Amino acid sequence: MGKRHRSGRRVAQVRKQRRETVYKMKRKRCYGVVPCFVCGQHVDEMHATLEHVQPLSKGGTDAMANLDISHSWCNQARGNADGR
Ligand SMILES: [Zn+2]
Repeated sequence: MGKRHRSGRRVAQVRKQRRETVYKMKRKRCYGVVPCFVCGQHVDEMHATLEHVQPLSKGGTDAMANLDISHSWCNQARGNADGR
C-alpha cells in the first residue's frame, strides 16, 4: 500500500531466479531430466518456463509446491498459466 512499485524489470528478475531455482530442483530430483509439466518431455534450460500448477488467476500461489517447469511453447498453448 502506497508503495511505488513500477519496476517491472525487478519482477521479471525475481521470476527468472525463481524459474532457475525450480528448474535446478527438478533436475536434481529427476537425475538430470526435467519433465515438462504439460507434455512430459525433457525441457532444455533455454526453453524452460515457470508453470503454475494452479494458475494465479484461479487462486494458485507462488509457493514452490505450486510451481513446475514446462516448455515455452507448452506454456503458451496452455494459455492461462503464469498470470499473463
Ligand atoms: Zn512440453
